Amino acid sequence: MPPTRILIAEDDPISRAILELYLESEGYSYVSAKNGREALDLYNAQPFSIVITDWLMPEMDGTALCQAIRKQAEDRYTFIILITSQNAPKDLIEGLEAGADDFIVKPINPAELRVRLKGCHRILDLENSLKKSLTEIRELSIRDPLTGAFNRGYLDQQLEHEIERTYRYKHPLSLILCDLDHFKRINDTYGHQAGDDVLKRCVQNLLMSSRRHIDWVARYGGEEFVILLPETDAARCSIVAERMRERIAFIPEDSHYPMVNISASFGTVTLLPDSQTDKISAGELLQRADVCLYQAKQSGRNRVVPETEMSSEIIADRRLHRWQYFP
Ligand SMILES: [Mg+2]
Repeated sequence: MPPTRILIAEDDPISRAILELYLESEGYSYVSAKNGREALDLYNAQPFSIVITDWLMPEMDGTALCQAIRKQAEDRYTFIILITSQNAPKDLIEGLEAGADDFIVKPINPAELRVRLKGCHRILDLENSLKKSLTEIRELSIRDPLTGAFNRGYLDQQLEHEIERTYRYKHPLSLILCDLDHFKRINDTYGHQAGDDVLKRCVQNLLMSSRRHIDWVARYGGEEFVILLPETDAARCSIVAERMRERIAFIPEDSHYPMVNISASFGTVTLLPDSQTDKISAGELLQRADVCLYQAKQSGRNRVVPETEMSSEIIADRRLHRWQYFP
């Protein structure tokens, strides 16, 4: 664990020196300020997880510092210990209301400070583990457990956002719909374990061909995946889809499943929003990609069909029918 950084706010040089000496001997790193204003400036430059502040100080006192820190919306908690000269209940209430977590009474007793800091670490550790669990839960809720790709729920939600963004900033957005060819044969020949293995490897190949933290891959259905490419025009999207196709079709070379050729078909669409066009829905965009994917399957599989290469008659005709999967 890296040493905890503590911010000290204390106007009295002797009290400040005692605090510094103690914190140093306990292995903490600290930064000191002579009043609340100075402490707040330091805090704003780089937040601290622990603040030990005197109550009475010139310019800005301890309670005002507490309030200023609490006003800031942060993604992590700051534990504040207020140093007071008296511990009258009325003072303690005022300090708590200002946002202090704990108190220490002057003159500072190192043994007392040690237990106060211990309590403070318990809270901060608890907060950390809670945050970690929340992150894990969130990750689980948006991922497909088998492949690690984003799940359908995430796709439905995020696709609308991406379309929104595309119309707002007038940047292109491309979508690739990918479906493994003859997937049923893999399951039938080698069993479902093998099918799962192929799905996992397919996602790995899709991820390897996309940009980290920009593009994303979601499992749309059983063996069908959506890859979303923000800020990507049709030409670039075709190159990416072709690279994905090659990677997936290359799997049999070192495959455990020699009797089945593994390949995938792709349909790609690109949105180029301008002020004239009406905003389309996520469903419509997926349906347009679906028409291209259908065409890729029709014309022999293991290929990419971009919407730009399709005739308007085919598009119009296909859109009338929700396409059926090939066995
Ligand atoms: Mg003071």
